Amino acid sequence: MICKKTLSALLCAASVIILCSCTDRNTENETDLFAMDTYMTLKAYGENSKSALEKASAKIRELEELLSVTDENSEIFGLNSADGKRTEISDDTSFLIKRSLEINKSTNAAFDITLYPVSREWGFTTGDYKVPAQTRLDELLKSVGSENIILDTNDNSVSLLNGANIDLGGIAKGYAGKCAAEILKNEGIKSAILNMGGNVQTIGAKPDGSSWIVGIQDPTDSHELVGTVEVIDKAVVTSGGYERYFEDEAGNTYWHILDPKTGRPAKTDILSVTVIGIDGTTCDALSTSLFVMGIDSACGYLRSNREYDAVMVSDDKTLYITQGITESFSVSDKFSGYKIVTV
Ligand code: AMP
Ligand code: MG
Repeated sequence: MICKKTLSALLCAASVIILCSCTDRNTENETDLFAMDTYMTLKAYGENSKSALEKASAKIRELEELLSVTDENSEIFGLNSADGKRTEISDDTSFLIKRSLEINKSTNAAFDITLYPVSREWGFTTGDYKVPAQTRLDELLKSVGSENIILDTNDNSVSLLNGANIDLGGIAKGYAGKCAAEILKNEGIKSAILNMGGNVQTIGAKPDGSSWIVGIQDPTDSHELVGTVEVIDKAVVTSGGYERYFEDEAGNTYWHILDPKTGRPAKTDILSVTVIGIDGTTCDALSTSLFVMGIDSACGYLRSNREYDAVMVSDDKTLYITQGITESFSVSDKFSGYKIVTV
């Protein structure tokens, strides 16, 4: 028979164990870093979240060093300088080129990593902005096209033909978020949120089991939100002309997302597009692609690819929301007057 004293000691010990496990599960750690041209905040919960975050940040830095288009020591820089010669590449770069080629196909070439010589001419990768002459753009467009990328995934090698150069800026951050999430999961982390500029990657649910609530930035005012979306274990990736642009003397605005057909900033009726899904790499490439495609084609794409959800803000005060997130999306007061179209 257990005496009263022993019972209360046992109960006491049990509550200490419960308290300890709660504290461990809720231990919050945060790492801030500047990488891939963006301030990132990585937050994770759990006993070993500090060391797990260190490993995740190290992977993001490693990817930055590999994929930067301007760093002379990067793999991409080496590839772009190889004058068409077959070049061996890492698993990460090989995977990203392969995925970019698949998305190029599925988006009818709205997504094209060979646009680099064109975006360099506009100054988007150097900050030395200018509006190139159309004749110059036409010249540069001759080397744009996925047919110029010869990728061999058996031996991880690639040749860039016809003077082509590549830039993975439209997909790399999503991939970095996905890799960081995998590292955290392998380290036993069940709950984390990675804020990487316009890219948010969530791992599991919040420590209390509820959904993460991710804000979608107002494309016309960085201090306001279009609304919020509730997610668990998903990426939420936004693209918009407001992210990087310059103005000429006449006040015309030129943004960094280019239309591969014209070599000019995509003329679109979309102010911003947010893609939500389980694969951050694809969400990133798709947010860029749907922006280029414009509302009608983007809606068509989303209707035939239901595994990805989206929130799109159009230039005629309409919000386009896919069926899959009508319950989890909440519109902000500022946007409550907008027409809402379910896609
Ligand atoms: P994001 O912010 O993810 O929409 O990506 C924009 C970046 O992707 C640009 O800064 C360029 O590096 C690159 N980019 C621009 N236009 C395209 C395009 N049509 N297809 C693929 N990448 C692009
Ligand atoms: Mg993108």
